[in-house]
Amino acid sequence: MSSKRYLRPIRETARFSDLESWDDLFAYCTHCGRIGSLDRYALEGKYGKHSTVHGLNRKLRCIVCGSREMNMIGARNKLRD
Ligand SMILES: [Zn+2]
Repeated sequence: MSSKRYLRPIRETARFSDLESWDDLFAYCTHCGRIGSLDRYALEGKYGKHSTVHGLNRKLRCIVCGSREMNMIGARNKLRD
């Protein structure tokens, strides 16, 4: 068995400015199960660091199934040696 990647939920009120520097953002499509990585710094630059992370949910679209409403966002620690 390969080690399972652990996606950590982000609390409802979290803003980009609340994220830890080592967090990577991922969007999870609950419709088809795809997990895609997000460029948090690009998103932060586009929407502002005081935007809530979950506010992006409706702006994201799954590239596999096209679902707009079922994407959840989580964080994962960057891999360290
Ligand atoms: Zn999907």
